[in-house]
Amino acid sequence: MAIERTFSILKPDATRRNLTGAINAKFEAAGLRIVAQRRIHMTRAQAEKFYEVHAARPFYGELVEFMTSAPVVVQVLEGENAVAKNREVMGATNPENAAPGTIRKEFAVNMGENSVHGSDSLENAAIEIAQFFKPEEIVG
Ligand code: GDP
Repeated sequence: MAIERTFSILKPDATRRNLTGAINAKFEAAGLRIVAQRRIHMTRAQAEKFYEVHAARPFYGELVEFMTSAPVVVQVLEGENAVAKNREVMGATNPENAAPGTIRKEFAVNMGENSVHGSDSLENAAIEIAQFFKPEEIVG
C-alpha cells in the first residue's frame, strides 16, 4: 500500500457543535496524519465549484446553503491508503447506514448535515486539495 493524501472537510454542523477535536482524534487514531488544516468560511462560489458534480441533483441548493452557513475546517490527511481509509472512518453518507464507531454514525445529524467530507478517489483528492491549499502549506 502506498502513502496517499486525501482532502477532508469538517462541515458546519461539526464546527457549530465544537466537534473538530473529537473528529480529528478519530482520524489520528486511524493512522491519518493531519498535514494541513485551515478554518475558513466558504464563499458561495467556492461551495458551488466544490460540489459542481452535484449541480443537477435536487439537494444541490440546500447543500451549498449548508456548506456556507458556518465555518468549516479544510484539511489534508496523509497515510497508508488514505483515500479509502478516510472513507472507512467517515462511514456511509446517510448516518442511519453508517457502521458503529464511524464519524457519521457518532456525530452526523442527517444525510445532508453529515459532519465530514472525504475525497472519493486519489484523482479527486488531488483536484480538491489544489482548490484549497498551496503545495507549501502542506507539511508532511
Ligand atoms: P459523500 O461522498 O459520502 O459525501 O456523498 P455524496 O458525494 O453522494 O454527496 C455529497 C454530499 O451531499 C453528502 O455528503 C451530503 O452532505 C450531501 N447529500 C447527499 N445526498 C443528499 C440528500 O439526499 N439530501 C441532502 N440534503 N444532502 C445530500
